[in-house]
Amino acid sequence: MDLFDRRQGPFYDLWETAGEAVRRRETRRRLAEYLAWACRVPFYRNRLAAADLKAEHPLAGVPSLTSDDLRALVPPSSGRLLTRKTGGYTVFQSGGTTGFPKSALFTSEEIDGLDLPNARGFFAVGLRPSDRVANLWAAGSLYMTFIHINRMLQNYGCASFPLSNHATPEFVHMAARLFKTNCVTGISSVVLNALRSLKSLGLKGIRVEKVYYGGEHLYEADKAEIRRTFGAKVIAAPGYGTIDSWYIGYQCLKTPTGVFHCHDDQCHLEIVDETTGRACGPGETGMVYATAFPRRLTPIVRYRVGDLAQWVGRPCPCGRMTPLFRLLGRGDDVLRVGFDSISYDHIQACVAKTAGLSAAAAMRKERRAGRDRLVVEVETEAPPRSWPRLSATLAARILSQRPTLAKAVKAGEVRPPLVRCRRPGTLPRNPRTGKLIRVKDAC
Ligand SMILES: [Zn+2]
Repeated sequence: MDLFDRRQGPFYDLWETAGEAVRRRETRRRLAEYLAWACRVPFYRNRLAAADLKAEHPLAGVPSLTSDDLRALVPPSSGRLLTRKTGGYTVFQSGGTTGFPKSALFTSEEIDGLDLPNARGFFAVGLRPSDRVANLWAAGSLYMTFIHINRMLQNYGCASFPLSNHATPEFVHMAARLFKTNCVTGISSVVLNALRSLKSLGLKGIRVEKVYYGGEHLYEADKAEIRRTFGAKVIAAPGYGTIDSWYIGYQCLKTPTGVFHCHDDQCHLEIVDETTGRACGPGETGMVYATAFPRRLTPIVRYRVGDLAQWVGRPCPCGRMTPLFRLLGRGDDVLRVGFDSISYDHIQACVAKTAGLSAAAAMRKERRAGRDRLVVEVETEAPPRSWPRLSATLAARILSQRPTLAKAVKAGEVRPPLVRCRRPGTLPRNPRTGKLIRVKDAC
């Protein structure tokens, strides 16, 4: 039986309609069972002693698991997070493409387990067996997404076209025209580039009715452009998650940009105010922590995802009972520019090597005409006549030290970085703390 035929009722599965009492009982049961499993790993034993399953927020006293923790606990650094030392798994890369690798290990069973959240999410955003889907997700180089999306599409009951992010624009255009694909799915920037290429290569015989993106927000201006150009009916994100944890959320046909239903049978999702350590109520912004029940080989308890979010606190008009949260973007000093993640530390390192600039530097992302641009502003004591030279030097250094960004600029996927010099004390600071506002996203 294919994944589409396994649906139960108007939604994909019965969990989506379960009432509050069932939901609470079952999520507590899963959490208790998972914490017991995680205690097989010595790393968790002391940490999880602070869990209190009777409390409103059972993990409030448990330290969060950071990405640096993960790096130290899984291969190639060590096998300290592994619940067993033998047996097969697939290694995926998580995080940036440079520096010491951080990996995520999935057993075959865990990869199989992605079918449920995948099918639930794609069903919720309107994928049907009559659809013909161009899969543009990233493949190879230890990327994970293409592998499980491909698997889900071939088992769903639709027609699947495994193009990957490596297919040339001409090839995607040919497939769209000759095979009459009507859906596109992939990471937002790749999807956008592919759609723009379709337009420039000619829209005769091209249909784009459904666009299923992920990995980063697709901004309203981009969505408007897609609707205008192709008349697309659905533009939505079937899944939000991280390779370090699991699928955390999914959209439906009623959720606005950035709002997701929570896969609360898959993950124990917390949104935490990190200044007080307390759980956020609806409408309060906090950091996303995820405990990923299906991750058995390397238990993931209270992983600090690095994104900011808010509970919506209202039911969704679609009728699903899975709770809603609003995703607000990265909470760390990292900007997603095109396909790349630029850390503030990287900018600081480049500023430090450029004589004449102070360390008071801020970075932000601008997005115009659908393309990202990294903007760096930096204070300097140098006279204004030397600012153009200083700016050009820093811009060149940022690119030369970050080949992935340089490549994206060369390919026209993102605009070249813009550097501006400012007089000392003129960059925006937090009025309360006086701290420099170092990073600002475009949304
Ligand atoms: Zn909904």
